[in-house]
Amino acid sequence: MESFDSHWITKNRPARNEVDKFEPYACLVEKERSNSGLVEDTGIIFLTNKECSFTCLMCDLWKNTTLTSVPIGAIPEQIRLGLKHMPDVSRLKLYNSGSFFDVKSIPEEDYKPIAGLVKHVDRLIVEGHPKLIGQNCLDFRDMLQPELEVAIGLETVEPNVLKKLNKKMEVRDFVRAVKFLKAHQIDSRAFILVRPPFMSEKEGVFWAKRSIELAFEAGVSSCTVIPVRAGNGAMDLLEEQGLFQKPSLDSLEEVLEYGISLGAGHVFADTWDLEQFSKCPACFDQRSNRLIKINHSQSATPKVTCTCDPKKKGYAID
Ligand code: SF4
Ligand SMILES: [Zn+2]
Repeated sequence: MESFDSHWITKNRPARNEVDKFEPYACLVEKERSNSGLVEDTGIIFLTNKECSFTCLMCDLWKNTTLTSVPIGAIPEQIRLGLKHMPDVSRLKLYNSGSFFDVKSIPEEDYKPIAGLVKHVDRLIVEGHPKLIGQNCLDFRDMLQPELEVAIGLETVEPNVLKKLNKKMEVRDFVRAVKFLKAHQIDSRAFILVRPPFMSEKEGVFWAKRSIELAFEAGVSSCTVIPVRAGNGAMDLLEEQGLFQKPSLDSLEEVLEYGISLGAGHVFADTWDLEQFSKCPACFDQRSNRLIKINHSQSATPKVTCTCDPKKKGYAID
């Protein structure tokens, strides 16, 4: 039996992209529903940073990273550039392809300059691995004018699969991190995978639902459910070996609707590059628009009907 460890994962990777340590590798503005219920413009600056220390099996964020730490001052410079190229936003995500609180990724010397650059936003969202959530978060929060929110990858609560994802964490690490943040009045959100490798479609849906339940019980204010993709080398090999298959759009819809029905907090579906999960070009646009509408309204609308699934009852959306 092959071991899907860091060595196996990295040796099967395609080449990484060329990046500049002083420029973000992407910036965009998306609409996202805030805790107040308003759908607000949310900027995302994808920071060019050192590769994450964790090497998860399903991760492709390393593609736009550097092999060594970026110098002090590089991250604030990237944020300055990113903000210059986007309209005014009330919410900002700083995603660094890893953990914001890993000092090998974002040096502590940069916290103050970063805080100075984001003074104008109401909410700042960064990513963090559960094992790196601690005093650094509080130090950074104390320098900030906007509210801080930390997005944490729970991935799945199925313990054997979580172990195989090579994230080097257990569910209890996630719970500890969320409780720590909550005790210090810092909001958190969970990233949850829909059908990670080593699961059937049915198991993928089942465990995504259990993961949402656990995340809310732990104290997150929202969850984002992410259909798992191939494309990082390792996942493509697992797909060839029959150990991974992309989830269907139906599964993503089911998990999103279930999460919202709990009434425990916002649940969003990740709609990036969604077409690859569709088996029918005739209904894809309608289904994608429906998911976006549900993300914004946080209430399920009637399902899209299509000849691709004649057994389903429902109504076409306008
Ligand atoms: S912790 Fe997040 S960024 Fe780091 S390897 Fe895992 S999924 Fe990727
Ligand atoms: Zn269809």
